[in-house]
Amino acid sequence: MVIPPPHRPPARLTDRFGRPLGSLRLSVTDRCNMRCGYCMPEESYVWLPRESLLSFEELDRVAGIFIGLGVGKVRLTGGEPLLRHNLPVLVRMLAARPGLSDLALTTNGILLGENAVRLRQAGLRRVTVSLDTLRAERMLAFARVSRHGDVLAGIEAARQVGFVGAGGGLKINSVIIRGFNDDEVGDLLEFARARGLELRFIEYMDVGGATRWRLEDVVTRAELLQTVTARFGTPEPVPDPAAPSAPAERFRLADGTSFGIIASVSAPFCATCDRSRVTADGTWLTCLYAERGVDLREAIRMGRSDNEIGDLIAARWRERNDRGAEARLALPDRGILYQVEGLREDPRREMHTRGG
Ligand code: SAM
Repeated sequence: MVIPPPHRPPARLTDRFGRPLGSLRLSVTDRCNMRCGYCMPEESYVWLPRESLLSFEELDRVAGIFIGLGVGKVRLTGGEPLLRHNLPVLVRMLAARPGLSDLALTTNGILLGENAVRLRQAGLRRVTVSLDTLRAERMLAFARVSRHGDVLAGIEAARQVGFVGAGGGLKINSVIIRGFNDDEVGDLLEFARARGLELRFIEYMDVGGATRWRLEDVVTRAELLQTVTARFGTPEPVPDPAAPSAPAERFRLADGTSFGIIASVSAPFCATCDRSRVTADGTWLTCLYAERGVDLREAIRMGRSDNEIGDLIAARWRERNDRGAEARLALPDRGILYQVEGLREDPRREMHTRGG
């Protein structure tokens, strides 16, 4: 009788610094219905050709290959992901994948009100809404859109359909920029606190697209903590050993309200970064600051098998040595990452294409 060899789980895939391939940002569109000053400040953009966008079947297949390699978390992003027609259909496909422990969506909230029920029913459990100001006129000036009321209604709709409570189902992201919204740090935290939501302050990053970026406009983690302390008292750090690669450092106020700070500029988290991202046209990037990516769309459309594509991804991940945010921090003269011409040459360099 032949005794079968004992079943061994596949070896954990890690990069050159021992970082696992843990989470994936899947961009579903490069289009956006906002023009935030830190992301899309130009008058016109070069868009990805429509026929190059991955279909839902292709996106689901890509996600499946990554899940097979150990990815447990997928976040849908863009552009504005809710501009992708019928997004809940993709959510349902992904939510049905057994290996996926966490499926989330990042949105500007404008279309969340009309989609919240379908997203929830499709199996989405976590939503992050970007909200940088509580003042409609500021949003109009900064993001060139007058739909502040829709964003607030979207947040409310998400709460109503159950995106709240344990596990932090609904979060708010606020990018704080000097001279734009740095006087709203306390009010934004109060807004989230009053609704039982977790807010994450994000330092203004010099990513592609941020062509107006200046180091002096970055409101750092240290300043954010000072402002919060002045209004709410000293927050207590909340270490989360269960999430060693989470980008946000978490804190708790005396009343139990927790919030986070994503200090990508002043205190990058490259050492524990397990994230990679796929653009809407199937380019896989192993760092937000990466110059180039791996073309998965070509591999898919050339008829490569899941195993072949998985091998391609695994080989690249084993070689990964990106520490993009740390490299930026080490620069003596830190300016913008790309001039507009460089972004037009390759729109995959844009933050709205590679997904935040
Ligand atoms: N449209 C969706 C949204 O607004 O959340 C998803 C895409 S957006 C590119 C994802 C996140 O990236 C948002 O929270 C946005 O605030 C953030 N982001 C874009 N440019 C940024 C920058 N220069 N610095 C920091 N965060 C940025």
